[in-house]
Amino acid sequence: MGGPVMTKAELLARCEELYEDLDLTSVREWKEQNPGGRAVGYLPTYVPREILHAAGVLPVGILGAGEQLEIVRGDACFQSYICHLPRSVVELGLSGRLDVLDGMIFPSTCDVIRNLSGIWRILFPDKYTRYLDVPQNFAPEVGGAFYEVVLRELWSELCALSGREPDDEALRAAITLYDANRKLVRELYDLRAAEPWRAPASEAYLLLRAGMVLPVEEHTRVLAEYLALVREEERAMVDNARVLLTGAFCEQPPLTLIRTLERAGCDLIDDDFMPVLRWLGHDAGDALETDGDPVRVLAEAYLGDEQESACRFVPDGQPKGARLVETVRRRAAEGVVCAAPSFCDPALLERPMLQSALDEAGIAYTAFKYAENTGQMQPIREQAGTFADTIKLWGDE
Ligand code: SF4
Repeated sequence: MGGPVMTKAELLARCEELYEDLDLTSVREWKEQNPGGRAVGYLPTYVPREILHAAGVLPVGILGAGEQLEIVRGDACFQSYICHLPRSVVELGLSGRLDVLDGMIFPSTCDVIRNLSGIWRILFPDKYTRYLDVPQNFAPEVGGAFYEVVLRELWSELCALSGREPDDEALRAAITLYDANRKLVRELYDLRAAEPWRAPASEAYLLLRAGMVLPVEEHTRVLAEYLALVREEERAMVDNARVLLTGAFCEQPPLTLIRTLERAGCDLIDDDFMPVLRWLGHDAGDALETDGDPVRVLAEAYLGDEQESACRFVPDGQPKGARLVETVRRRAAEGVVCAAPSFCDPALLERPMLQSALDEAGIAYTAFKYAENTGQMQPIREQAGTFADTIKLWGDE
C-alpha cells in the first residue's frame, strides 16, 4: 500500500480486498519483490513475529477462510464437534491457496491446533511445520528460561529456512518495528473507546486483519494514515450502547457479524480479535537499554504482560474474569458480548467463569456462538438489538 496517501474509503477498500483474498496475493507479490524472502504462516493466538522478521521471514496470520470457501476435504479431518477454523485451514492448504507459504507455525492455543500441527506434517511433509510451545509458568527462571530456549530454536530453524545467520541487531530492529506497530494498535483501540463513532469496530477490524498479511512496516503506515484521517474527519456522534466483546481470540467472526452488531446499536469499544497484535501490552524494546540480549528481552516481555486469555494460565489468587471486569471499568463499557466460536473449548469453558465475574460486578452481558462462516445474522441482530436497548433504557438504574 505504498505510493500516494489514500483517502479513508480507498484505504478501507484495500484492507477489505486483503481480508477477502484467500489466495494471499499480497504475500505472493511480497515474495516477487523480495527474491529469496520466505513467508511462514501462523495460527492464532500468539507467535513472536519479531523472530520471523529477524530471520528474513514474512509472518502471515492464517485465520481460516471466513464465509467464502466451501469445506469438503477439511471436514474429513475433524469430527463434527470441532470448531470450524481447522477445517477451513486444511481446505485452504489442500486447495493450493497456501502454497506460497514456506512453512506453518502452530502455537499452543488448544488441542485442536496441536492436532492440526500433526495433520499438517502428514499432509505437507516437505514444508517446514513447527508446533510452538509457550510458557504457562511466568517465573523468569522457569517459564522464562524455557521460552528463551524455544525462541532460540525457532530463530535458528527459520534462519536455516531463509539462509541467514541469526543476528542480534536484526532482532533488536524487529522488536523496535513491532513496538511501533503495537503503539498504533493501542492508539486505535484508545480512539475507539473514546470516540467509537470516529473509528467503528467494523473499520478497525479490517485494519487489524490487514496486519495479518502486510509486512509490519507497511501495516504501521496504514494504521498511521487511518488514524490521521479519522481524527480530522467530521463524523456525527452516535449514541449507541458501549459494549466490549470477548471470546473471539481465535476463529474470527465474519465481518458481517461485526457490522450486524453495530447496526443493532452496539459500539464495540474493545474486543479480543487477533490478540497477536496486542499480546505484549508494552514496548518490549524498553528493556533493550538494560539487557543486550534481544531473545531474553522478548521472552521476558511475554512473561511480563498480564494478558488475560482462555489459553493463558491464570495463577491461583487471580480469579478468571478479574481482568475483564477491570477492562470494562477502564473503558467505561456498559455491557459485554460473550461471542465464542461454536465448539471452542477454551472460550466456552472459560465463559461461565467470566459470566460469574460479570454477575458479581453487576455488569450486563449477553452471549452467543458463531462460526467463521455464520451466514444467518437475523437472530444475532435481534439479540444484540435487545441487549443494546436494555442497556440504553435501564442501564443506569
Ligand atoms: S476456535 Fe477455539 S477450539 Fe478452535 S482452534 Fe481456536 S482456540 Fe481451538
